[in-house]
Amino acid sequence: MPEKKLEELPGVGPATAEKLRDAGYTDLMSIAVESPKTLAEVCEIGESTAVKIIAAAKQAADVGGFETGDQVLERRKNIHKLTSCSKAFDELMGGGFESQAIAEFYGEFGSGKTQICFQLAVNATMPEEKGGLGGEVVVIDTENTFRPERIVQMATALDLDPIETLQKIHVARAFNSHHQMLLVEKATELARDKPVKLMVVDSLTAHFRAEYIGRGALAERQQSLNKHMHDLLRFADLNNSVIAVTNQVAAKPDAFFGDPTRPIGGHIVGHTATFRIYLRKSKGGKRIARLIDSPNLPEAEVVITISEEGVRD
Ligand code: ADP
Ligand code: MG
Repeated sequence: MPEKKLEELPGVGPATAEKLRDAGYTDLMSIAVESPKTLAEVCEIGESTAVKIIAAAKQAADVGGFETGDQVLERRKNIHKLTSCSKAFDELMGGGFESQAIAEFYGEFGSGKTQICFQLAVNATMPEEKGGLGGEVVVIDTENTFRPERIVQMATALDLDPIETLQKIHVARAFNSHHQMLLVEKATELARDKPVKLMVVDSLTAHFRAEYIGRGALAERQQSLNKHMHDLLRFADLNNSVIAVTNQVAAKPDAFFGDPTRPIGGHIVGHTATFRIYLRKSKGGKRIARLIDSPNLPEAEVVITISEEGVRD
């Protein structure tokens, strides 16, 4: 049975269908699982209309059913794994960084969060047989730390054409947390034309930390971060992409943020990120990467190096 077209849903005319598609809701399932509030906002329709559209999409898309474990296993065969260029790091991650998941790198300033994101960006452009994703990359840069020169160094070290590699990496500066969230929507548009297989958000939390200050703002901050994380997960699912985000922990104790070894965003980021990796500096350019939280892998740590060529064992 061919899936119903969006226009066949009650309350959806050609104009609304176009708004839905523009916002990335190209199939019924993506509408069926959306909240009325978000759908209304994104598509500029009334919330009661959104409720009706979602209800109709739920019926048409046949959601809410259970799958047997072997069906889930079959679906997980679509998951791709992205190499880090370190065998030990890949093994720590169960064979590489999984698509349809968020990996969060947290650690102090200079612990290697951005360098690892650069390496993943380069690697995602490589063909699958080399551990890449044969795709393109979106980088949401909030701290102005994207350096094409570093990409050139890392690409050259892997015998990749540096310019071709850079042409597959789409970078946008995010000027505040709202802009940052909007860029995920923009990335969804881009992903219709390009196979965006990796999205980097570096840093995930810096704008949120700077903008929502004081106890009173905490709930609002967590709510926005929660939405942002779910937008990212949705992007990961729709595009079978890897999401890599960074989260800086304060170097010294902070009256408001508390324990310096705990990343901000606390529960929200922690529970939505699929993999959390704690990075810390060690001697001679070495870094220790510790897998903190994973649905199916043991907590463990490995040593990696960061050199001019990039991330290695
Ligand atoms: P953060 O965790 O704050 O994002 P970075 O990922 O930017 O930190 O790590 C910065 C560190 O990466 C530098 O201190 C340096 O050790 C290393 N690094 C950066 N560029 C190079 C390079 N070209 N060659 C070797 N090491 C580098
Ligand atoms: Mg950084």
